[in-house]
Amino acid sequence: MVLDTDRFLESVLDAIESQEAKLLVWGVVDGRISRTEIDEIIYPRVEQALEQGLEEFFDSEGVISELKSRGLLFETDADPYEGYRSRMAETVRLAFRLRQLFPNHDSVDGWQRAKTLVSDFRFTRRLRRYPIRNTTPEVLISDISGTENNLDQISVLKELLSDRANNYHLADFQVRALKRILESLRKGRSTGTLVSAGTGSGKTLAFYLPAITRVGELKLKQAQGVAWTKILALYPRTELLRDQFAEVYAESRRLDALLSSNNSKKIRIGALFGDTPESSLTFRNPKKHKWRRVSVGFVCGYMTCVQNSCDGELVWKNEDIDSKRERLFCSQCGYEIKEDEIAITRESLKKDPPDILFTTTEMLNQRLSDTATRHLFGLRPGAIRPPEMVLLDEVHTYSGNHGANVGYLLRRLSFLVRAPLTFVGLSATLQDGVSFF
Ligand SMILES: [Zn+2]
Repeated sequence: MVLDTDRFLESVLDAIESQEAKLLVWGVVDGRISRTEIDEIIYPRVEQALEQGLEEFFDSEGVISELKSRGLLFETDADPYEGYRSRMAETVRLAFRLRQLFPNHDSVDGWQRAKTLVSDFRFTRRLRRYPIRNTTPEVLISDISGTENNLDQISVLKELLSDRANNYHLADFQVRALKRILESLRKGRSTGTLVSAGTGSGKTLAFYLPAITRVGELKLKQAQGVAWTKILALYPRTELLRDQFAEVYAESRRLDALLSSNNSKKIRIGALFGDTPESSLTFRNPKKHKWRRVSVGFVCGYMTCVQNSCDGELVWKNEDIDSKRERLFCSQCGYEIKEDEIAITRESLKKDPPDILFTTTEMLNQRLSDTATRHLFGLRPGAIRPPEMVLLDEVHTYSGNHGANVGYLLRRLSFLVRAPLTFVGLSATLQDGVSFF
């Protein structure tokens, strides 16, 4: 196998970390690796890499600067000597040195008397493990075409996976989740699927690939007509909802061309939580909303620009608020999030439910019996059809009393919906997932 840059840098990082681990297991967090030590680690590996055909690095300077630019290595204070810490060791040090500040620590050097947040720790180092990604979109689609003879579904999936990077591959667990969830939807039975994989390994995709495929398929079948919530995405806390909201928004745009060629509307998403303003009139009273004011309008707090590496603030402009046009503009690149792509206010969510509704378990609990809102969760008489999927993110947080409450909430929802629901849970850390879920 040809040695690539990532693999090479990982082997250097592994060696640095294993050196650091010797002190960390004894609780020493201020250790650093000197320049001489790091050279001793890097030089033989650079020589080995050159022999294996990787000609990107010639000395330890180049390796160090690449590791630094990737945020994997940090330079420590020059006093008493120049040194380095890996991301791992620096994280442990910062977490261990963190202090709890209370009002009685107000004086200049008060923080020195404050207690540390962590009183003690134990450190174990384990090797990095990622799921192998070895299924190409083409293989996945021909595989699915073999078991599902649903042409709409296959054309949606093809569109979703087209125009990806050349080396775009899916991991086995993503493929299994996709197949299992699509099968559950086809059979029309209530099922539960738990996707458990480490942070950054792509478990979000394991959910939204089948979810957006299903929404796209339903929209192709029902080109026009009244809107209804097809998927409920539930989060334990508001902060956790933000990242996935932007990701699902961006992925949904991949189907715009296909849907419009079929005279179907675009996939529209919305979020119902504390920050969702009641209506455009809410902005007349600063006490009634939490959006930050800027000269041209108000900044949306739960989503930033989705254009590549832009991350600009999205603004609901004053003139659009006055004319009740629910669209947002990026303050940096001018990208427009259009009216038929998201719902901004509770008023428009209720009037025209989104295809995918993001909300918190607490909001669902509060609003499930509210006759003005419950149709948003797919409940009759207001809703024309029940939802089909419920996503539960960070399911490991649903433990103890809170977990029991959420369990009852989901049973209430199931009972009121009176239709099969496909539950999908996501978690990075869960022991005995089957019985838990
Ligand atoms: Zn932008």
